[in-house]
Amino acid sequence: RAGQRLAVRVVKLDDGVVLVIADDRAAALRVEASARDFMANATHELKTPVGAITLLAEATEQAADDPDAVERFAGKIQREAARLTQLVTQIVQLSRVQGTQLATVGVVDVDDVVTTAIERSGHLAEQRHVSLTVSGAKGLLIRGSRDQLVTALLNLLHNAIHYSDDRARVVVTTRLVPGPDGDRVTIAVSDNGIGISEEDQLRIFERFYRVDFARSRQTGGTGLGLSIVSEIVEAHGGTISLWSRVGSGSTFTMELPAAPDLEEDEDA
Ligand code: ADP
Repeated sequence: RAGQRLAVRVVKLDDGVVLVIADDRAAALRVEASARDFMANATHELKTPVGAITLLAEATEQAADDPDAVERFAGKIQREAARLTQLVTQIVQLSRVQGTQLATVGVVDVDDVVTTAIERSGHLAEQRHVSLTVSGAKGLLIRGSRDQLVTALLNLLHNAIHYSDDRARVVVTTRLVPGPDGDRVTIAVSDNGIGISEEDQLRIFERFYRVDFARSRQTGGTGLGLSIVSEIVEAHGGTISLWSRVGSGSTFTMELPAAPDLEEDEDA
């Protein structure tokens, strides 16, 4: 833009190159530090399953004449490979949505997003004997990306199921909230699970942050799920909030700008 000086910085990292463009030096340095942190964490997280697979492959070779051991090692290799796939998938999801504007992509039917996410979580909920129900307003519309909103809701549902005991109840509630700057749609996921301490509530949206490392790893957690949700919500011009109490459960609420209904839109 004319008359404006842009500070452009290129940061070279061991594992690649990140180009940072920002119009203020302090912001550029913050983005640079966060990119470097992310790269270091991602590298560390990826090295863990790769290292395990390498060792297990060597062990399998040495145990060639012990079929039971070979079977055991093969199972472990499959689990580590699944973890690697999940990490790569989530890192790609995060980088795709980061810094994008999705509110202009199209008009999304909230009922469709909720039904799709519930259907895709059905298997996991059944395994854990968790009941999944929907309540609230129907026929709500949001401007944005259907697929990204399904991903966000799926991540919240998976967490609600994972971090609850067997036979827990998970409820998705949708509402229209009128406001002076236009209507908002809220999609809330409530569980009556283990809850999150106040201290952890401040940190769980950080990338790779996990409260209980052992439980998270056991449930296949990477610590990226909520970062992906908050990036998706932000890309839609929305906000995410959390209410939780240890031992009582948690409610994650996505608040997104409502799209006017299609007829109104056509008249406009
Ligand atoms: P993860 O892949 O570990 O689930 P997330 O970013 O989705 O990563 O969540 C970060 C951490 O927040 C989790 O490890 C878990 O400790 C906590 N958490 C997320 N959702 C819930 C929930 N509904 N109830 C209790 N703890 C939760």
